[in-house]
Amino acid sequence: MISQDYIQLEDKYGAHNYHPLPVVLNKGEGAFVWDVEGKKYFDFLSAYSAVNQGHCHPKIIDALVEQAKTLTLTSRAFYSDKLGPYEKYITEFFGYDKVLPMNSGAEADETAVKIARRWGYDVKGVAENQAKIIVCEGNFHGRTITLVSMSSDPDSYKGFGPYTPGFEVVPYNDIPALEKALEDENVVGFLVEPIQGEAGVYVPDEGYLKKSYDLCKSKNVLFIADEVQTGIARTGKLLACDHENVRPDVLILGKALSGGVIPISAVLADDDIMLVIKPGEHGSTFGGNPVAAKVATAALEVVVEENLAEKAEELGKIFRKALEDFNHPMVEKIRGKGLLNAIIVKPANGKEAWDVCVRMAENGLLAKPTHQHKIRFAPPLVITEEELLEAIEIIKKSIVEVLG
Ligand code: PLP
Repeated sequence: MISQDYIQLEDKYGAHNYHPLPVVLNKGEGAFVWDVEGKKYFDFLSAYSAVNQGHCHPKIIDALVEQAKTLTLTSRAFYSDKLGPYEKYITEFFGYDKVLPMNSGAEADETAVKIARRWGYDVKGVAENQAKIIVCEGNFHGRTITLVSMSSDPDSYKGFGPYTPGFEVVPYNDIPALEKALEDENVVGFLVEPIQGEAGVYVPDEGYLKKSYDLCKSKNVLFIADEVQTGIARTGKLLACDHENVRPDVLILGKALSGGVIPISAVLADDDIMLVIKPGEHGSTFGGNPVAAKVATAALEVVVEENLAEKAEELGKIFRKALEDFNHPMVEKIRGKGLLNAIIVKPANGKEAWDVCVRMAENGLLAKPTHQHKIRFAPPLVITEEELLEAIEIIKKSIVEVLG
């Protein structure tokens, strides 16, 4: 079978909820993936920042295989000898009292919403069913009904009502708007992405996170950071909140927590917050399973052993400078932190970001447009400087070929 055959199969038998670039991949290693015809590509999406540690990292895969041969799932009806050590490791790693393990990023966001609401009732003293969570315009927290209920993107929410109440949307990167919204005493949490990834790598002004955090503290409101995409070294620090020395009350992680191997997510918080959830009130059959425990531990160890945060910081500077020096008239903006970056391209000759991505694929680099004119560039953090420079040449060449 060739690529076209696989594409037709997905088209005929799969729901049409994605619009992939026409490449069919069957192998990955480090910063590279290969298609079924054997063509090699730089992966500049990293499965939306899940593959920070690189494709099929040997240490993470060894952890997966070894544990998969021993014990895969107990459910939380019983203890396992892997969960406790993992919980100790991850909580010490990020500096929290407790972790609540889940699977997808969306589930972890849902978990954080439940924790915040319950904390609001049990600790803050908000009247029953009145809890409110402030979220930001342009947010992306996942695809469940509750998470699309807080979305401002019609592609996410339109046609899926009725929506979950209890959320107020304020403009992102707007401190006065947040301050005003926080006047409502029923507000229990402020849920925010430190950089909005799906919105096109929208980096807020310096100081926004710190000011937001301080405002939340002054109003007894939980500062909840969704670091599913920005977390785990992607932006040049372990967490994007670390850039402003902000320690979220509730921290949401996913994606790279497994190095892109299996779905693993987590919510971290201290006892006074996490222990509002009692036995039987929340959970997941697969959350915290022995394989996940071993894989996540290995994935976090790799981040430290290979200095991935420092690498992301240094290579990110090289990446942004190279594209700024390129100074192409059709590249309107270059923005990002660490190795989470995006460019905004002006359409020309009837061509736009999608066409640039198709050409980049032909030239050996995979990236995906987000919101029409933006292209996100997020390679695995194990990419070398030499590889990055080669990739930059492909990006520049493709832009010139498509947009002139
Ligand atoms: N939160 C953020 C910031 C994300 O970027 C994403 C996915 O892109 C999610 C949550 C949802 O994660 P998942 O697709 O694993 O449910």
